[in-house]
Amino acid sequence: MTVELSIAVPVYNEEDMLVLFLETVTPILESVTADFEIVFVNDGSRDATLAILTLARSRDPRIKIVDLSRNFGKEAALSAALAFSSGRAVIPMDVDLQDPPGLIPVMVEKWREGFDVVIARRADRSADTAMKRWTSSLFYKTIGRLSDIDIPADAGDFRLMDRRVIDALCALPERARFMKGLFAWLGFRQTIIDYVRPARAAGSSKWKPLALWRLGLEGIVSFSSVPLKLWSYIGLACALTGFVYGAYLIGRVLFLGSMCRVMPRLPVSSCSSTASC
Ligand code: UDP
Ligand code: MG
Repeated sequence: MTVELSIAVPVYNEEDMLVLFLETVTPILESVTADFEIVFVNDGSRDATLAILTLARSRDPRIKIVDLSRNFGKEAALSAALAFSSGRAVIPMDVDLQDPPGLIPVMVEKWREGFDVVIARRADRSADTAMKRWTSSLFYKTIGRLSDIDIPADAGDFRLMDRRVIDALCALPERARFMKGLFAWLGFRQTIIDYVRPARAAGSSKWKPLALWRLGLEGIVSFSSVPLKLWSYIGLACALTGFVYGAYLIGRVLFLGSMCRVMPRLPVSSCSSTASC
């Protein structure tokens, strides 16, 4: 059964956020359409997240739950949420209300005007820590230089996508899924709306620095051939150096005599005859 609008929400240890999220988002969705669903993907939470979701689902059948067998990370959880969404338009959202639900009506309006993708861009990230802002800006600069795909800076996963876009995205066979890159790669008719990113409403960020580093590396390796080319050149340079040195040694032996003369420190016993040394 399809609906007009799906909200796709990956969640990991978010027991503090779920009730607030539903209380905030549900009336906004009801004001936009009577035909919606909220697809939660429980990404291997170890707290009461699944229990709270199950209770909420028993009260509101518009809620769907996908329960992953372990924590796979946000990118995989989001992919699952999109795959299980049936909406003619789908909006991925973080559960911490950093993606302001107040933008949903504006996004849907733009979609009804005919846009396939409505990107919400963070015009102001002052709610993020200085470190996060700096690493994020460094990442976007690096990937902007290295990749041929134009990945818009400060555009996260919060965007509306038409069913055509979701079907194309779900058909991509990539196993390592860097979603911001895949979204940008697809194209389609897009527009951007700017917003000010608020701080997390409750709980704490689920990203550890190492996981963010891995995600950044994943993005660069998936969307740029520069690292591959770089190591090809380094490999070629090593092979060439070895070849030239080998040719030099062969040349010296041919013109100057045995290896023992060329390399006088070789032990005498390793020479074929002491006379030639
Ligand atoms: N999340 C997830 N799996 C993870 C990490 C995060 O599903 O391994 C979810 C999390 O519950 C939230 C969203 O991804 O709904 C964004 O996470 P968070 O707010 O911690 O990221 P940040 O805003 O700090 O980048
Ligand atoms: Mg957040």
